[in-house]
Amino acid sequence: MIDVLNSSLEAIQLEDKFGAHNYHPLPVVLSKGEGVFLWDVEGKKYYDFLSAYSAVNQGHCHPRIIDALVNQARELTLTSRAFYSDKLGLAEKYFCDYFGYDRALLMNSGAEANETAIKLARKWGYKVKGIPANEAVIVAVERNFHGRTTTVISASTDPLARKDFGPFMPGFQIIPYDDIAAMEAALQNPNVCGFWFEPIQGEAGVYVPEDGYLAEAARICKENNVLLMMDEIQTGVARTGKMLASDYEDVHPDLLILGKAISGGVLPVSAVLASDEVMLTIQPGEHGSTYGGNPLACAVAMEALQVVKDENLTENAARMGEIFRDRMERLAESHDLVKLVRGKGLLNAIVINDSEESETAWNICVALKENGLLAKPTHGNIIRFAPPLVITEEQIHDCCDIIEKVIDKFRITPN
Ligand code: PLP
Repeated sequence: MIDVLNSSLEAIQLEDKFGAHNYHPLPVVLSKGEGVFLWDVEGKKYYDFLSAYSAVNQGHCHPRIIDALVNQARELTLTSRAFYSDKLGLAEKYFCDYFGYDRALLMNSGAEANETAIKLARKWGYKVKGIPANEAVIVAVERNFHGRTTTVISASTDPLARKDFGPFMPGFQIIPYDDIAAMEAALQNPNVCGFWFEPIQGEAGVYVPEDGYLAEAARICKENNVLLMMDEIQTGVARTGKMLASDYEDVHPDLLILGKAISGGVLPVSAVLASDEVMLTIQPGEHGSTYGGNPLACAVAMEALQVVKDENLTENAARMGEIFRDRMERLAESHDLVKLVRGKGLLNAIVINDSEESETAWNICVALKENGLLAKPTHGNIIRFAPPLVITEEQIHDCCDIIEKVIDKFRITPN
């Protein structure tokens, strides 16, 4: 028999005793979700202002996505790619039409999609660009976040992500983010096969590059015969107020890397989209995943993406984001604890005017929780605010009221 939990404390103690300590969660135990709301074990209701790191753009337990899940689960869940399924081709076509690509390769986690993109870029580098064997270089940027696998963290500049996990995978060159001159210099190397980055750096603390960076990066890639590898796992699927953040500068990445919200937070689905030239460099047996592209994932992802269009979530994210930043900018002007507000659409962050080591941002998030809003600090003094994109105008004002009320109670810690 499986035990049932009676209290939040019991749940926290169990995770603490039997789980790995690889996260530092806020002390809240959730047991139900609907739309923009979450409920804890004791029945307290919260606004979700994290959306599972932007995976739940369509809102929790969206009825259409859950129906797609349940209906498909009754028919067929997994075949592996040893056989064809009646859903994979449909889903691949759906992804290609939706995002404007020749081909899609479906995987599971975001890190895995990035691994896939790295392999595709390297393969293309050898087979099409003619880079000598094992000499391919991928240029990545400082402060990147692309996942947790050993290859992916080999390109990380976050000491916490890397410490004691070496040796690392060679073949990455790291340059500063939002630095066109550095990129131009790095891409002079004829062995570079890809430039790999996030159009807005989400995990790092919602760093938005200068206008023109994306378009310039695309131009330099083209000029140097290098693939533009865009990780839109957090920024994609309407989060930033466009379907893709790269749409802000009409950029069409050679490798588009997606995850999180393509399945509306229902089950892990990720994807890499590319042209025939790039995707067909990989042959049978050279890459795969048992669950990648399974029928359940295909049915859920198609419905989740259709919901984004049918409910105009891109437009809503853009409009609600304007309201949110406007309110937070006014808060920053009137309160010296809020240093600045940055973001696009509904991917935003405020920077707390205190040291990175201070507990202030954490304490604010705990106080927000007490007041019915869940958010999480990132990198010490930054708080990311990313609610589901189904949030209404009334709700966003309600949330801004909560944030203002809570922050007003805090002061800068004296040195
Ligand atoms: N890439 C970006 C931009 C992300 O924000 C994340 C997760 O936060 C990942 C990759 C990793 O995705 P996953 O946790 O599904 O492996």
